[in-house]
Amino acid sequence: SPLVNTKRIHKLSEAVVNRIAAGEIIQRPSNAIKELIENSLDARATSITITAKDGGLKLLHIQDNGHGIHKDDMPLVCERFATSKITQFDDLASVATYGFRGEALASISHVAHVTITTKTEDSPCAWKANYSDGIMVPGKTGATADPKPTAGNVGTQIMIEDLFFNVPIRKKALKSSTDEYNKILDVVNRYAIHNSAVSFTCKKAGTNSADFRSNPGTTRDAIRQVFGPAVAKELVEISQSNPGLDVELHALVSNANYNMKKMAFLLFINHRLVESTNIKRAVDNMYSTYLPKNAHAFCYVSLEMKPQNVDVNVHPTKKEVMFLNEDLVIEFICDTIREKLAEVDDSRTFTPAT
Ligand code: ADP
Ligand code: MG
Repeated sequence: SPLVNTKRIHKLSEAVVNRIAAGEIIQRPSNAIKELIENSLDARATSITITAKDGGLKLLHIQDNGHGIHKDDMPLVCERFATSKITQFDDLASVATYGFRGEALASISHVAHVTITTKTEDSPCAWKANYSDGIMVPGKTGATADPKPTAGNVGTQIMIEDLFFNVPIRKKALKSSTDEYNKILDVVNRYAIHNSAVSFTCKKAGTNSADFRSNPGTTRDAIRQVFGPAVAKELVEISQSNPGLDVELHALVSNANYNMKKMAFLLFINHRLVESTNIKRAVDNMYSTYLPKNAHAFCYVSLEMKPQNVDVNVHPTKKEVMFLNEDLVIEFICDTIREKLAEVDDSRTFTPAT
């Protein structure tokens, strides 16, 4: 009969499970570069260089001068749920690093070929290892999977080749290497602004000239390097805390003398690059009363709140976060920006008519 169930339940193989999970965390090259930058920052790097070929699909390379990885830890680097950053679930409530799940490099190794070269301060040389599907594997020339000694400076280099080589449908969906490269550049730019003491370089493979290079300086300097002097000179700096909400706001936002066609909204919550349609829309609305029609502001907004009030673990790419008192926090942000703009506004645009 047509109702006979011929589809029996079976467990998926680990390889299939891992590749599916990897596709959720790493959706495109810019997700990978975000994870890699965060790892470099977690390793306290002050200089980070990113190189991409074919929008990162052929090659994504990142070099940092952070603390490196201990040689004995190298077998674990790409293993799922292996991390040096937390130990207990409760540690999540106070996590001060970007990473905590030990999933990024594991995921990447399931959908690309990974090579890591790293040196710690106390090691006489650098060590290099290749990874595939979570484990160390022999490289093209190596007979064993063991890390090989090599020359190198303190820090870590991670090379990701042929991203999505085993996920043809994903590869097909990411046709434009120009689009992908621009998304990478956008992530690098945003991190460069939020980490203005770190120098970032981003370039295409085979070219000597960088598409972006930041020199250590203030946040305003970094914004100037990314968005240009016209916006940088019209920025109002805001630092305001709200003890009731337990929120601290640091922001650099454009005044009434400046506007752009599309809103630039850079949002960090507890130093994580995130998106919040609700915050963005509210701030954009607040500005719309003061700016010409169809004109928008530039806003860099950094919020710090008690880690206990933010859940960073709601989205596979950690892009979206949930936090307590969203409506009140949004009101605080909009009110504070409006007040500060009124204070500095000589044209009195932001001062309500009385
Ligand atoms: P997580 O960041 O969540 O711990 P990852 O998969 O991103 O997981 O990284 C796994 C581990 O590899 C990290 O916990 C860290 O110990 C090490 N690691 C990764 N990248 C670097 C780096 N650039 N410098 C130093 N250590 C790194
Ligand atoms: Mg990480």
